[in-house]
Amino acid sequence: MRTPKLAFAVTLMISALFYGSNTLADTRILASIKPLELLVRAIATEDMHVTTLVPPGSSPHNYSMTPSKRRMLEDADVIFWVGPQMETFLSRILTGRDFGERSVALMQRDAESEQDHQAESHSDHDHAHDHEDGEDPHIWVDPHMALAMAETIRDSLAQLNGADKPALDQNLETFRASISAKEALIRKQLEPMQSVSLFAYHSALTRFAEHYGLNIEGVLTLNPELSPGARHIAAVQNKLRGANHPCLLTEPQFNRRWWHSITEGLDVTISTWDPLAMDIDANAEGYTAFQQSIADALLTCLPENAEH
Ligand SMILES: [Zn+2]
Ligand SMILES: [Zn+2]
Repeated sequence: MRTPKLAFAVTLMISALFYGSNTLADTRILASIKPLELLVRAIATEDMHVTTLVPPGSSPHNYSMTPSKRRMLEDADVIFWVGPQMETFLSRILTGRDFGERSVALMQRDAESEQDHQAESHSDHDHAHDHEDGEDPHIWVDPHMALAMAETIRDSLAQLNGADKPALDQNLETFRASISAKEALIRKQLEPMQSVSLFAYHSALTRFAEHYGLNIEGVLTLNPELSPGARHIAAVQNKLRGANHPCLLTEPQFNRRWWHSITEGLDVTISTWDPLAMDIDANAEGYTAFQQSIADALLTCLPENAEH
């Protein structure tokens, strides 16, 4: 009884060799957070299955993994994450023996690729901000850093068995063109924002603001897992009081009571933006829609748009 089975298995193996691209239908790509899923979807071909690990409403800063999430890691062929400074809950498991080879930390490669960008394509605007410090891990909100991440994603996907490399290259070029058009549009839209004083919940907005030449005057909490001390709150309140059209950008993952009292009695416009792109459609255009959603949240703070 065994011989036919074995023969059948060999036949399967041979046809898998001949029709290698068909096996890609089972390729599972896991992104740690939704914005990375959007970058992967911009690059991946249609036969690749893409999902996100951290569910909507949760923050990667304080996430703890359930057994079903652990199974998602085990089932994945490639795992994209920002790196140990961002998804701390993944750092031990993804740098270990089981997952080291199939996980790709996008932050570690970033400094390198961003340098190439500065050399070739950053003459269009003043890009003096420091992209190489490893401090702020919210790298995906900066469109040029996102492009560098997309290039790394292309390189990783191209190594998969049966990958359609010309299609991956084409997707990367399409993404490059749409990011550059979106970036130019947003830069224009944000010009009047110089008259607004921006305050953020935590550092997630910083790299977006820096990229577009905007200044963030205050950050409510340096560690999003903790509420800040009284002295820090008093300092932020002071800045809010002295600010010109203060605008506080809050995040749906951290809509906690403690910060509401900070703005009491002050004329502050509050706008919500989502660094985790929860409500953005998961498709190849998702990342540019995400960039626009951040710009739109900022624009509601312009004096002519703000409700008082
Ligand atoms: Zn964050
Ligand atoms: Zn930038």
